[in-house]
Amino acid sequence: MTFEEAALCDSLSKNVSRSGYVKPTPVQKHGIPIISAGRDLMACAQTGSGKTAAFLLPILHQLMIGGASSSFFSELQEPKAIIVAPTRELINQIFLEARKFAYGTVVRPVVVYGGVSIRHQVSDLNKGCNVLCGTPGRLMDMIERGKVGLSKVQYFVLDEADRMLDMGFEPDMRRLVASPGMPSREGRQTLMFSATFPEEIQKLAADFLKPDYLFLA
Ligand code: AMP
Repeated sequence: MTFEEAALCDSLSKNVSRSGYVKPTPVQKHGIPIISAGRDLMACAQTGSGKTAAFLLPILHQLMIGGASSSFFSELQEPKAIIVAPTRELINQIFLEARKFAYGTVVRPVVVYGGVSIRHQVSDLNKGCNVLCGTPGRLMDMIERGKVGLSKVQYFVLDEADRMLDMGFEPDMRRLVASPGMPSREGRQTLMFSATFPEEIQKLAADFLKPDYLFLA
């Protein structure tokens, strides 16, 4: 698959070229068609492999062609995509990449993470959000405060799942998928990325992904 064959919508395609991406990396080449086909995916991929664009591009494409709206200046935001990563640095990188690809489109990514005041993040959220990037604890906090509703979630991405387990985020991840409104695994598309695939990750994949999920190594 080339980026042309991925048939990304015009604005997304322009933003990809503007980012200097010419040729897809292996995880993009193999992952994008699987994700575009609507399948759940567990991918073993390291940082630096290009995994961020592998999940962002098909998700953003779908949201752009669907005309994903977000409610401007609403106290409750109901994102269509939730992306979770273990650290502030990582989630911020994902957010910046999403913002770059979403430039000039209806897609509005927002990032939330712990360790800083929640106030600014809430006011940022309230301006509209259809792609929410967050660390597990702060995401749960936003949900429990009623700032974020999960009933519109179509895409759920867990990045660096093995590090999330190492950092003790398993309870937060399990609370997140069991939160009120969160569609069941049948009603959403779930994508998991992990550098390693030990037994605990296999268990998480078995619980979070549809039974016919595809595995990419
Ligand atoms: P990631 O593994 O997603 O953290 O990406 C690693 C780095 O590679 C990031 O700086 C991306 O901007 C860059 N990158 C991802 N995909 C491509 C591509 N197809 N062509 C050139 N650079 C890329």
